[in-house]
Amino acid sequence: MNSREFRRRGKEMVDFVADYLEGIEGRQVYPDVQPGYLRPLVPTSAPEEPDTFEDIINDVEKIIMPGAASPACTELETVMMDWLGKMLKLPEAFLAGEAGEGGGVIQGSASEATLMALLAARTKVTRRLQAASPGLTQGAIMEKLVAYSSDQAHSSVERAGLIGGVKLKAIPSDGKFAMRGSALQEALERDKAEGLIPFFVVATLGTTSCCSFDNLLEVGPVCNKEDMWLHIDAAYAGSSFICPEFRHLLNGVEFADSFNFNPHKWLLVNFDCSAMWVKNRTDLIGAFKLDPLYLKHSHQDSGLITDYRHWQLPLGRRFRSLKMWFVFRMYGIKGLQAYIRKHIQLAHEFEHLLHQDPRFEICAEVTLGLVCFRLKGSNKLNEALLERINSAKKIHLVPCHLKGKFVLRFAICSRTVESTHVRLAWDHISQLASDLLRAEKE
Ligand code: PLP
Repeated sequence: MNSREFRRRGKEMVDFVADYLEGIEGRQVYPDVQPGYLRPLVPTSAPEEPDTFEDIINDVEKIIMPGAASPACTELETVMMDWLGKMLKLPEAFLAGEAGEGGGVIQGSASEATLMALLAARTKVTRRLQAASPGLTQGAIMEKLVAYSSDQAHSSVERAGLIGGVKLKAIPSDGKFAMRGSALQEALERDKAEGLIPFFVVATLGTTSCCSFDNLLEVGPVCNKEDMWLHIDAAYAGSSFICPEFRHLLNGVEFADSFNFNPHKWLLVNFDCSAMWVKNRTDLIGAFKLDPLYLKHSHQDSGLITDYRHWQLPLGRRFRSLKMWFVFRMYGIKGLQAYIRKHIQLAHEFEHLLHQDPRFEICAEVTLGLVCFRLKGSNKLNEALLERINSAKKIHLVPCHLKGKFVLRFAICSRTVESTHVRLAWDHISQLASDLLRAEKE
């Protein structure tokens, strides 16, 4: 949608809301629809080609308004998470379908999803151990629990360990910044020998620093064999799995208990929208379910509805699936794939420019939209280059450390980015590098 149409549609939406508010006294306070009303009214998967804005707004009137905020909010979310799961070709076990045991929920952030998974895993292992040894206290179990992620995992994983009150250990990654099965196995054997209880692993697909991928096909079987919950954090990279040529990066997801990525990062859905799936919804619900009288409702034990308040930290929730519905339909799967492909192609364009300049080195494989690079030379030199780039305020780069090296990260992220922007950025970086190297010599 270009900005001219956006202005027009925005004004129409204001009218839509104002009309609704003006006519609100003529509406029922409680909907007539029955649980499950929405799924038969929408297609089973996202459209390949874009729908028109009129079609979508007409459907809001026809499908959403009769179900008001509830149950429409919940039911659209379940269906949208199935649409998105199908786009990624997630195994059936993660989809809710009509009677599945898995399903998806929209969390606010990847941090929340990791924390939810860790807390659910903690409850699951605690109950299992207490069932085997009824005398064991929760405190005695908690102090022995240990979770793992790679040394490249996002800080939110360590934070989940802190909040969850369990030890979290970093597994050294290999030369390609990936967690390997053997390194995980070694660490947990050592910990078991010391009487600790390994229970939870976070594998990252698309690490923050350099977009590396943990080896799921090795890590997954270790987790399954050792009865540890495997959570996959693909906060950024997950969006790319809608393209068949990048789907292989998700191979091994079948070993996981939960999987998460942020459509708000790279799938054109506005912040916040973090998609999380679990294979076994009772693992989540069982861990967090409390039913005070003021939250009871007539369908609650019927098994017909999903009560998302048991799947997340807050009880209240927003109608975030509307954003997904609009975006998936406005772009169509093909439009979303084209968007991802363009970003990746632009990252390779930048990589190509770097390759032609012998002053620079590329520090990690370029798989998606991130290029990690540096001037050949000291960390100090690269810190000075970053300082020049960021203080010029034409582009902004965020650095990282990779195995002791200070590295610059060029990330393609804007919705409107074009090849001309990449070339401008490269000319700018190259010029600032020349200035810096000249100044160093003087
Ligand atoms: N995991 C990874 C791999 C990330 O790159 C990020 C953020 O950049 C996060 C987790 C945290 O995401 P959020 O801000 O949604 O909690």
